[in-house]
Amino acid sequence: MAIEAGSVFAHAAVEGFEQVAFCHHEPTGLKAIIALHSTVLGPGLGGTRFWPYATEAEAVADVCRLARGMTYKHAVSGLDAGGGKAVIVGDPRTLRSEGLIRAYARFIDGLGGRYLTAEDVGTTQADMDLIRTETPYVTGASESLGGSGDPSPATAWGVRCALDAVAERLWGAPDLAGRHVVVSGVGKVGAALVDHLVEADARVTVADISERAVLAVVARHPGVAVVEPDKAHAVECDVFSPCALGAVLSEATIPELACAAVCGSANNQLATAADGQRLIDHGVLYAPDYVANAGGVINIAEERHPSGAPYDRDRAWARVAGIADTVRSTFDRAEADGTTPAEAADRLAEERIEAVASVRRIRTSNRETP
Ligand code: NAD
Repeated sequence: MAIEAGSVFAHAAVEGFEQVAFCHHEPTGLKAIIALHSTVLGPGLGGTRFWPYATEAEAVADVCRLARGMTYKHAVSGLDAGGGKAVIVGDPRTLRSEGLIRAYARFIDGLGGRYLTAEDVGTTQADMDLIRTETPYVTGASESLGGSGDPSPATAWGVRCALDAVAERLWGAPDLAGRHVVVSGVGKVGAALVDHLVEADARVTVADISERAVLAVVARHPGVAVVEPDKAHAVECDVFSPCALGAVLSEATIPELACAAVCGSANNQLATAADGQRLIDHGVLYAPDYVANAGGVINIAEERHPSGAPYDRDRAWARVAGIADTVRSTFDRAEADGTTPAEAADRLAEERIEAVASVRRIRTSNRETP
């Protein structure tokens, strides 16, 4: 990594972070980085990405970017969870072994509950179940093990609820009947979202680089139309719903949008911060990605209900439905401040962190307050 000795704390990626832990276990080849951006609201919660980063510096930058994003997502969603994320450096297809995952789990355990992991790109529910054998600080284990299972259905349900708030803002009622929604990316989240949209009597067009993914959706819903992935954002429609990769809204694509709103599950949809304003200038309402796609983490957080009650899917999904209210608050705040919805979401998140931090300055016992 190109970080000079003595300058690691001043490295741009890690600045402002509470803790960045490097975990190395030579016998299994484990090289992992756990980043805790903020634990003001609670333990840092965020998935483990298993990815063949070209350089270690790239891995540090990615894990820090992702952990910071989790702080904001949890804060705006009203969760008592902080921002954390982890990466395992390497190709999961060749490097994954029982020993490596268990060694990684021991390092999580060593953080004593400051970090709670979950599934992410490159890790699986089987990995979470294996991590559970070494540490309780893991979420999203199988439902049979008392976990909340795959978060994707809850994420899709959250986007569906966010779409209600979008419809209400644009057309006066939370009703998608007859509205045309283009879903780009019909993987775990996108495909489940299509099910909800069809049920809501929306007109649906899908796109995916995987023919298999498209065929699976069309087999279930023969009325769904299909478009080439690189044309999806330009289809004339009511809502464009990016459910694949990030950075789909850019200086190049925004002028081509022919929708009234963008609302989807993909992370980091804006290529740059300036694209939030570009969307407004183009007359497109944007439901900020980390507000709309919080269903998965809201579902996972329900595994650790403050009352100690076991995970309950109905309770979790009712809480996910609250995303509609968060989207409404974001739009209201953007209007009131004359700013973009993305900036408004950031402000709401920062204000909540500040409010909770100030409350926690009140000493309630002889032990140190967090
Ligand atoms: P997934 O891998 O199951 O599905 C992604 C789909 O997008 C795949 O079918 C893939 O073929 C397709 N795709 C890739 N590139 C594409 C392109 N250029 N155009 C169109 N389609 C393309 O992933 P997922 O779990 O469904 O997640 C989708 C997005 O939502 C990701 O950005 C993810 O980070 C985000 N997200 C997911 C969750 C969750 O609970 N799974 C939670 C929050 C955010």
